[in-house]
Amino acid sequence: MIQAPFPGGQILNKYSLKTAIPFSVLFLCVCIGLPLYLYHKGLSLVSAGVFVFMFVSTLLSITAGYHRLFAHRSYQASPILKALFLFFGAGAFQESCLKWSSEHRVHHRFVDTDKDPYSIKKGFFWAHMGWMLSKEDPKAPHPKDLKSDPLVRFQHRYWFPIGMISGFGLPLAIGWSLGDPWGGLFFGGPVRIFFAHHVTFFINSIAHMFGSQPYSTEGSARDSWWLAFFTFGEGYHNFHHTYPSDYRNGIRFYHWDPSKWLIQGLRMLRLTWDLKRTPEEVIVRKKVQNQFVHISLPKIQELEALRQKLYAELMARLDEFSQNKKAWIATKREMATQKITKAEHELEHELARLKEKIELNRKSYQESYDNWKQFLHYVQKQRMAA
Ligand SMILES: [Zn+2]
Ligand SMILES: [Zn+2]
Repeated sequence: MIQAPFPGGQILNKYSLKTAIPFSVLFLCVCIGLPLYLYHKGLSLVSAGVFVFMFVSTLLSITAGYHRLFAHRSYQASPILKALFLFFGAGAFQESCLKWSSEHRVHHRFVDTDKDPYSIKKGFFWAHMGWMLSKEDPKAPHPKDLKSDPLVRFQHRYWFPIGMISGFGLPLAIGWSLGDPWGGLFFGGPVRIFFAHHVTFFINSIAHMFGSQPYSTEGSARDSWWLAFFTFGEGYHNFHHTYPSDYRNGIRFYHWDPSKWLIQGLRMLRLTWDLKRTPEEVIVRKKVQNQFVHISLPKIQELEALRQKLYAELMARLDEFSQNKKAWIATKREMATQKITKAEHELEHELARLKEKIELNRKSYQESYDNWKQFLHYVQKQRMAA
């Protein structure tokens, strides 16, 4: 006798209960538990405070810690700071730092291909959380630099009990010491984990689907300021995929990027150093090259010639600036190793001359860049009028 297949069998084969159960429990906590709790007990100041503290500390440990420090090595940090990131990062319940970072490096290396663990080409849900629910193992090799860090190795081994302490024990203890233990536990535990989870997952889904691509259209990553607001700066994802080793994601001072501000602030306390920044002229060049390719001109003959002229002029000025900057850096290095006093004096002279040149080059490329921006503005106005 042929038996009808169990209807849920296919789903059980495809999805891992190890992740499906906790995700479902968190979902129920927020969809059913949260309204019931608020209806019966309301929101105490302690619950709200614990929620904010836990949300900020665990999410920053993921963005500035797991992501920018461990996955991208975009700056160096003291062991104390590393330990704090690993402690609170475990409480975010996004696996160990070693697993998270290894998978993230594979994501950058093979973005949008079958090897990308959370490829957006497999759909929004897959990129958001389907890949974690699936039984498929991304098989990301553990990089040597991370494996050799004893703190990272320790957290990889014990991340779950550490997470239970930082993610549940700590909010319970804070709530208890302030007179609302269950409120502290509920809001600082499951409710916070649910929201912090999805905010992080949005980087893999929304930031690869919606937003602008000012720097590169080679991959699916996109910039959006509103996503950056919820994700502590990670929403500037097009910039990040173009320059992943930059410790900043939002590069302008007004770009909402608390992870960047935290890393900068901790530098003053000497807890971070060697912050990697992409030189401004490199960013301008990439942005203008991208605009040059994608600009769509209205049908006015002279505009094409003007586009070519302004672009060529700006590129030439950027070249000149970069060359002199390189020469200045080389001379400075030479000076650091030079021991003869007379030659040192000559080098000092050379250094001052180059510095002057660089300043002039900077002014002239910025002037060209302003002309280019005015041109883009004019083209846009023409298109809107048409
Ligand atoms: Zn990405
Ligand atoms: Zn990244």
